[in-house]
Amino acid sequence: MDNIIRITEKNGAFRAFIADTTQMIDHAVSIHGLSPVAAAALGRTLTANSIMGLDLKSSNETVSIQICGDGPLGSIVSVSDNNGNVRGYVENPIVDLPLKNGKLDVSKAVGQGFITVVHNMGMKDPYVGRVRIQTGEIAEDIAYYYMISQQTPSVVALGVLVDVDYTVKAAGGYMIQLLPGADDNIISKLEANVYTLESVTEMLAAEMDVYSMAKKLLLGFDYDILQSISPQYKCNCSIDRMERALISLGKEELESIIKEDGKAELNCQFCKRKYTFDKSQLESLLTSAKGDKDEKNS
Ligand SMILES: [Zn+2]
Repeated sequence: MDNIIRITEKNGAFRAFIADTTQMIDHAVSIHGLSPVAAAALGRTLTANSIMGLDLKSSNETVSIQICGDGPLGSIVSVSDNNGNVRGYVENPIVDLPLKNGKLDVSKAVGQGFITVVHNMGMKDPYVGRVRIQTGEIAEDIAYYYMISQQTPSVVALGVLVDVDYTVKAAGGYMIQLLPGADDNIISKLEANVYTLESVTEMLAAEMDVYSMAKKLLLGFDYDILQSISPQYKCNCSIDRMERALISLGKEELESIIKEDGKAELNCQFCKRKYTFDKSQLESLLTSAKGDKDEKNS
């Protein structure tokens, strides 16, 4: 089962999250039919987003990551709830690029552009942070986002290991964040640990769980495990949401769909579920739709 643990150092010098998201990412890959490089890009993004979700205060909040690069993948979108349950998609799911030094070339697949993080707090205005993509490898980009947008020095590692049959053999990551007042000794000790550590996917593929990864990553530190959670790939689409999407098209557009097609078919971008509306269903939505001639805000 997937697992993310939240850790704080005994004296409050740093906090850490360690994640095994293998099943969640495997599920995402099978829903979207992702090529290996797309699986790595979306899988890293979803894992980071799942960790970020654990900072949300309540169940009506979400945090989303949008990576808009000029590479062949197009944009990458993901959303997490406060339990780290995520959903997401990549614009072009079957991009194939030559390996770079034997590794998937996520950087090239993503390209140059921006990462936007949106923290949605229900009724209040969302908090939006936007930074330029640094490497396109995603982990460094998330660390950069935390540095620029939240002034929090962070170490982020993310990995997805795709098997020969395109299933996900291992996926996960970790994030360490220094808390105010952490001294330089702690930083260099953490850096030394990170430097000697195997990659996340190597550890997971060797059947290590998040607790034994924590022992290695935080060797020499005293820490408490504050939370352990099992996140999933989960979509929250519904017939209601799809109806609202159709209504938001407006009266004229709906009327022309009814006239030309007599039905509508919508696919959820996150889970690929198909919703179909027949003529009478569309006609009943017309009463809720606003027309161009209707007054605004009425
Ligand atoms: Zn859905």
